[in-house]
Amino acid sequence: MAIKRILIANRGEIALRIHRAAREMGIETVAVHSTADADAMHVRLADHAVCIGPPAAKDSYLNVAAIISAAEITGADAIHPGYGFLSENARFAEIVEAHGLIWIGPKPEHIRTMGDKVEAKRTAGALGLPLVPGSDGAVSEIEDAKRIAAEVGYPVIIKAASGGGGRGMKVCTGPDELETLMQQAGSEAKAAFGDATVYIEKYLGNPRHIEFQVFGDGNGNAIHLGERDCSLQRRHQKVLEEAPSPVITPEERARMGGIVSKAMADMGYRGAGTIEFLWENGEFYFIEMNTRLQVEHPVTEAITGVDLVREQIRIADGLPLSVRQDELEFRGHAIECRINAEDPFTFAPSPGLVENFHAAGGLHVRVDSGLYAGYRIPPYYDSMIAKLIVYGRTREGAILRLKRALEEMAITGPKTNIPLHQALLEVDDFKTGDYTIKWLEEWLANR
Ligand code: ADP
Repeated sequence: MAIKRILIANRGEIALRIHRAAREMGIETVAVHSTADADAMHVRLADHAVCIGPPAAKDSYLNVAAIISAAEITGADAIHPGYGFLSENARFAEIVEAHGLIWIGPKPEHIRTMGDKVEAKRTAGALGLPLVPGSDGAVSEIEDAKRIAAEVGYPVIIKAASGGGGRGMKVCTGPDELETLMQQAGSEAKAAFGDATVYIEKYLGNPRHIEFQVFGDGNGNAIHLGERDCSLQRRHQKVLEEAPSPVITPEERARMGGIVSKAMADMGYRGAGTIEFLWENGEFYFIEMNTRLQVEHPVTEAITGVDLVREQIRIADGLPLSVRQDELEFRGHAIECRINAEDPFTFAPSPGLVENFHAAGGLHVRVDSGLYAGYRIPPYYDSMIAKLIVYGRTREGAILRLKRALEEMAITGPKTNIPLHQALLEVDDFKTGDYTIKWLEEWLANR
């Protein structure tokens, strides 16, 4: 192994997750943190820690100069960006490499291509992935927009090329609204992302969100690790994820998995990636690719037995993929609950002092969290404070185990969404796996 010391350019549970993988590989870690995170668990556990700025992310976790300096001062030889923050910033990846550091992530040009949704869609189409019908690239003229919308049929969705996090999208139900919504989408995209480019897609009425985990070695070899179903969403934010998807058969997994891994091999993709699809009536439609580790990666780890962070580090170090496609088996069922410090039904954030914390345990129960009694959850960042992942031989078994584990979890002080997860597990549609991306919001509105 060339990598001896990894700087973790992130915070919270994912920083801890990366620290753990590194430790198990005999690699030292460097934590970087804002002043608000000085007492964080990953900072305590890391071999070295450097404060890189004040609480606001733009001054700390997004502060490229401070992060590169911290790497140089501590003698780190690689940087792992986690998810969010700088993880999909191609320029940052280039700067890391220009400083002679190893970037534990995809090639910068692939991050750039997939970060522009118009480019991503074009590339995905050229690689043979099925697309949502829509415009062939960006649309600026209203006449073109009208023609395309009429061709694919209303409703259509207008999306920002630089959009992300579920923002910058407008659903349009007919030609009368198209011009106004195009203008609104463009100016909102300009304000939020500094880029007014928009494109048009058919709006799928009631799809599921199903994504494939892929890995490439950067030299034309790639594998897939099956799919995750992330349809339980609120405001386009995932709440609970599972693998495998309740609606995908082994044959369909092998077929689609073959298509996505061939696409990654042809592209020469390096590292971990997620190819997101909407799925409706048995058909997959590519929406985007994330060129990083995902929050929900543990459900894939649970059903494949592969440590995805270890795999990322190995590939960045120039090693081959540690498993071949024909060695991978998908066994059992895994479910992840995102546990947030927020009111379970109004969703108002609830940061502050954690008086007591007791993590669930037992067979096939995993808790990824930096929480401890006496920890103060800072108000400045994402409200996710823990992930609870359970595994069972069957989906039914996993649900029973999840109920048991949620009952054991004790977090006092801040409010959490544990009661929301508990309520969800009692609903028949969840139990039978009969839900789409709209289901959770409708259920919340009607309860
Ligand atoms: P972002 O990068 O902002 O997350 P995505 O393209 O991944 O944007 O879309 C986010 C979510 O928006 C999807 O998970 C889905 O719920 C909804 N969505 C996006 N495109 C469509 C579409 N063509 N039809 C219906 N829903 C869509």
